[in-house]
Amino acid sequence: MLQDTELKHLRRCVDLAAKALEVGDEPFGSVLVSGDGTVLAEDHNHVASGDGTRHPEFELARWAGMNMAPEERARATVYTSGEHCPMCSAAHAWVGLGRIVYVASSKQLVGWLAELGVPPGPVRPLPVQEVAPGVIVEGPVAEFEDEIRELHRRFHAASA
Ligand SMILES: [Zn+2]
Repeated sequence: MLQDTELKHLRRCVDLAAKALEVGDEPFGSVLVSGDGTVLAEDHNHVASGDGTRHPEFELARWAGMNMAPEERARATVYTSGEHCPMCSAAHAWVGLGRIVYVASSKQLVGWLAELGVPPGPVRPLPVQEVAPGVIVEGPVAEFEDEIRELHRRFHAASA
């Protein structure tokens, strides 16, 4: 069971994903929280820029690498609306960040997108722990699943 403070961080991830959708980007949002519970950084997807690597989890890993000591990174948690893709899982592990808590798993997302008729992306949707076996991962979180699913439905309805 996640604590209320953790659900609050996930709520913010969902809101960031909704914000991404509002500005025409894919609905993904993430928050980086220190070991003592302070929100350090947040971001949403920016792939509409044309750069498909602009995932929020990748941006947060880079931010952590530049702004946090290694021991602080290890104690931090990344909350995110959707499970890290392999690129972001690798970045997370290479900078030595701690736990990941996600709303929707990659497996769920792949299923939802297939139902919407969206063709598979160029990267295999491996679970975080297949890429970064040392990272503690929690999710999916049922409270927010329907909202995330609906954001993706709206994004692909708009871009169809
Ligand atoms: Zn990613």
